[in-house]
Amino acid sequence: MADCRSETKRGTGPDDWQSILAQAVRNPSELCEILGIPRLLPADAEAAMRWPMLVPRTYVARIRPGDPADPLLRQVLPQAAELTPVDGFSTDPLDEAASLGQGPLLRKYLGRALIVTTPSCGARCRFCFRRHSIAEPSPATADWRSALQAIATDPSIREVILSGGDPLTLPDSELADLTNQLTLIPHVDRLRIHTRLPILIPQRVTDGLIQALRLNDDRRRLATIVVVHVNHPAEIDPQTANSLGRLIDAGIPVLSQTVLLRGVNDRADVLTQMYERLINLRVIPYYLHQLDAVAGAAHFEVPTAKARQLLGELRARLPGYAVPRYVREIPGENSKHPLD
Ligand SMILES: *Cc1c(COP(=O)(O)O)cnc(C)c1O
Ligand code: SF4
Repeated sequence: MADCRSETKRGTGPDDWQSILAQAVRNPSELCEILGIPRLLPADAEAAMRWPMLVPRTYVARIRPGDPADPLLRQVLPQAAELTPVDGFSTDPLDEAASLGQGPLLRKYLGRALIVTTPSCGARCRFCFRRHSIAEPSPATADWRSALQAIATDPSIREVILSGGDPLTLPDSELADLTNQLTLIPHVDRLRIHTRLPILIPQRVTDGLIQALRLNDDRRRLATIVVVHVNHPAEIDPQTANSLGRLIDAGIPVLSQTVLLRGVNDRADVLTQMYERLINLRVIPYYLHQLDAVAGAAHFEVPTAKARQLLGELRARLPGYAVPRYVREIPGENSKHPLD
């Protein structure tokens, strides 16, 4: 990742997030060896050619050794099922290609604009709906600067959402540059950041990051909200809990979003445990997403009837504010489509 290497304040110890990301496991055989599970079959390995594996060791440490069915492992380990074409599952399930061909700004919803800031992530999730578009990013998706001008000239945009890839793979200095420029646009009131990094590499929540995101002091007036992508209670280790707490203590509300995934979190006890853990950390559940129909991820799909049943159980077991909104994205609709 060139943007990480070119960062001057790179941190010194091996415990800084950029070193952790640079040393992520990329070879499936190595991952299997670390975890003491059988090596991949040739067809599984072929799936890794299409969408390269990437797993930081901070995430590997939360996977149960010796268990090929581990719910965290399942999210990152390539498997042959990804190669099977399934009707209705496409490379661009949300019809983004035409729009992203014009530049990194996605304008689907009123008042909000989403910037695809970078194709880089802290891991390569096998179910990712952008797995085909960010695998071969266009130059436009890597340059957020070109989006700022479009935002500045459209006063209807009140909220800017940073997405990717993962916007927190950008170095602190670049994020500070981006957020500082956003605060200068008078009609933008809110900044929202969608990220999986506080889960994958909790060391990402540095003082420099918090500094770059605290935009509502007397100098700057932007409200900042972080939406963290979390799929399983075992993803929330003490260090992740600490990082989420530091964001919240800094005055940044943290919401959660989750993708409902077969064999990962499609059980009421697993979801209940995850949402209990999140609200105990003061993270407010926001979205539970029905899987986007992206080619290569059909084996993760949970039928909507089963999902509604799970939601019913969550409603019975959890405080109302701990029950997420179950939604699906439908291309062309002007908001996320409620399914519950
Ligand atoms: C999901 C999404 C948003 C934000 O939607 P909210 O319902 O406000 O969370 C904005 N733009 C795009 C392109 C999206 O996919
Ligand atoms: S964009 Fe999100 S879901 Fe997709 S690979 Fe990156 S971290 Fe995973």
